[in-house]
Amino acid sequence: MYLAQQQHIRCRRNFKVILCKILFIVRIWEAISYKRVFLLMLNLLVRAVTIRSMGNLNDTDCRGRSDSGLKVLVSREEIAARVEQLAAEITDHYGTGEITIVGVMTGVFVFLADLMRNLSMPIRLDVVSVRSYPGTSTSSQGPQLTLPPKADLNGRDVLLMDDILDSGHTMKFLLDMFSASNPRSLKTCVLLRKTLSQPVDRPDVDFFGFDIPDEFVVGYGLDYDDLYRGLPDLCVLDPVEDAG
Ligand code: 5GP
Ligand code: MG
Repeated sequence: MYLAQQQHIRCRRNFKVILCKILFIVRIWEAISYKRVFLLMLNLLVRAVTIRSMGNLNDTDCRGRSDSGLKVLVSREEIAARVEQLAAEITDHYGTGEITIVGVMTGVFVFLADLMRNLSMPIRLDVVSVRSYPGTSTSSQGPQLTLPPKADLNGRDVLLMDDILDSGHTMKFLLDMFSASNPRSLKTCVLLRKTLSQPVDRPDVDFFGFDIPDEFVVGYGLDYDDLYRGLPDLCVLDPVEDAG
């Protein structure tokens, strides 16, 4: 009887020990699960923040926005590298003498600002404004001078800068106008030179950044209906409508 009682007590003790062990394992399992849930939530939070900041980036970045009608033609890195080379070519030509840059607003302003900061000779700056692609039109309507130059270009080394050489009407119009002011020299510089499918009689430029295909481009200062100028890359735009 005594032995049977002893065995019963030992049995209950063993049962309690096993129960304790099971509970201990369950607690550890729960702790691991909590940790996993916590890590999962942290992961989700980090992802949400990253996706949000990428969304903000896309507001000014046409990379990854091909679905919205924009695709990168020349990247910001390619532009930066070429602008440096271009500045070296211009410096080779002019040396350390003073030059007067006349920029054709507004499309050239980003290129102009970047190029100027890569040049070390003394620079005088003037701007003119020519309207050739009004509003939502993506074909030239013929140049109209809307802001004349302020500087007297007589006797100066003038570098005429524009964003893009397309039909060449703007460049020809300005070259004719500036030549009449008797500058000491008159050179031209554009960021982009369009390769046209039809040969046209257009003035060539002395310095240029890139030859591009005959497509309508925006970004890096160039617009469509005054939009997209802030895009850091040069992008091709598929116009919704062409009023010209
Ligand atoms: P062009 O007189 O050579 O036909 O045109 C030159 C002007 O037209 C440039 O200064 C530029 O303002 C505008 N232009 C020509 N092609 C494009 C283009 O693809 N995109 C944009 N945004 N403007 C252009
Ligand atoms: Mg222009």
